[in-house]
Amino acid sequence: MTKISSICVFCGAQNGRSPEFRELAFEVGQLLGSRRLKLVYGGSKDGLMGATADGVLSHGGEVLGVLPKKLANRELAHQRIDKLVTVETMAQRKDVLMTESDAFLILPGGLGTLDELFEVLTANTLGFMNKPVIVLNSFGFYTGLITWLETIAQSGLSRSPGELFTVVEDVDALGRLLS
Ligand code: AMP
Repeated sequence: MTKISSICVFCGAQNGRSPEFRELAFEVGQLLGSRRLKLVYGGSKDGLMGATADGVLSHGGEVLGVLPKKLANRELAHQRIDKLVTVETMAQRKDVLMTESDAFLILPGGLGTLDELFEVLTANTLGFMNKPVIVLNSFGFYTGLITWLETIAQSGLSRSPGELFTVVEDVDALGRLLS
């Protein structure tokens, strides 16, 4: 993987039902912090997003959050991160997240996470951007999506998943990829 110094993590604004999701997000944060990779993310203190930031901060890493004003009542700003940028719209948030990052890492999440994943995949495909995307498939969370994307690629309607992103199956594999 090309040398990266900042990485944007897309993941759930909620915790989900399984406590393992939160543990995973915290562990990923610890990995990024220990590798001195700056975390760029949505700026929330809660959910898997907050757990990732907490993990980075627990290892003395740097964190940039980007929060839209529109979400001020839904997603509360993390108070301990190094820098919080406030923007007007969801689209502006994605623009800043994409500009400020050298690569993207996808953890378990919901519709917002999928929206963000497809935003970066389409930007790469259209040539607006050329940055690596990593999907962390712990617990096989994204296996169904990857299979579906293979079906689309076989229909000749998109690049194959292997061309769109790198899949790693656990945090150890992620650590090896980032070294
Ligand atoms: P979720 O995966 O649904 O928990 O959402 C993860 C993050 O994506 C949250 O910070 C949401 O605010 C954000 N999000 C949801 N929908 C959009 C959208 N259309 N554009 C940009 N960000 C979004």
